[in-house]
Amino acid sequence: MIVSEQRLLVRFFKLGSLLALVGSMHILTLLLPWYVVRADTISRSLLSGYLLTETLMFSVAGGMLAGISLLATSFSSRAGTVRIILAAFSILGGVLALLSPVYLSMVVLPRLNVSGEPDLGFFAALFTAVVLVALGLMVVLTRPQKVEVPYPQYYGEQEPAMSSSVPEETSLERVENVEDETVCPICYTTVTAENAVRCSSCGVVFHQGCAEAYVNINGTCPNCGKTVL
Ligand SMILES: [Zn+2]
Ligand SMILES: [Zn+2]
Repeated sequence: MIVSEQRLLVRFFKLGSLLALVGSMHILTLLLPWYVVRADTISRSLLSGYLLTETLMFSVAGGMLAGISLLATSFSSRAGTVRIILAAFSILGGVLALLSPVYLSMVVLPRLNVSGEPDLGFFAALFTAVVLVALGLMVVLTRPQKVEVPYPQYYGEQEPAMSSSVPEETSLERVENVEDETVCPICYTTVTAENAVRCSSCGVVFHQGCAEAYVNINGTCPNCGKTVL
């Protein structure tokens, strides 16, 4: 359960980093020519993205929101919270970034009454915006896995555990017969019956000294991780 939560956070961090990267690329497209405008048949001029107020505002806001979403991964250590913040920032940023080229071609240029063709910057902006939205959707689709945790055995008076993360318990038992060539997984040397203990849960055999040294520090079986009583 902890492992899957950690994995999820790592995944969100990666998605957040990608969002920040694509968001800044989107802002940089403002420096490129977005439109080639023809005033008449001879003269033509390049219209860079940053020259138009609306485009500049939408793209910078969208790109920055996507960039800020990386911070979302440090707001909380709970994957569910990070997912909501990351998804909100990235989709909002992506939609704003997408609005920039769309608004330019649908509203601004017709209003200016100029004809022209979209240029490199326009397509780059459109592409990065679509990637931002897609990354946002990936965040939404990355759901915390439901992990089936076996319900702890419930004996008589004991209170049922409130949390599913109650560690399971085991014990180290003496071993009478050790198979030949049994190797201690801690020190990688052969174990003999005189100095062998076995984890009653996973059945792995260790040197008594090796296992006890480990248990004294960690309190758990070196192999299965269950708490040693
Ligand atoms: Zn050993
Ligand atoms: Zn064990």
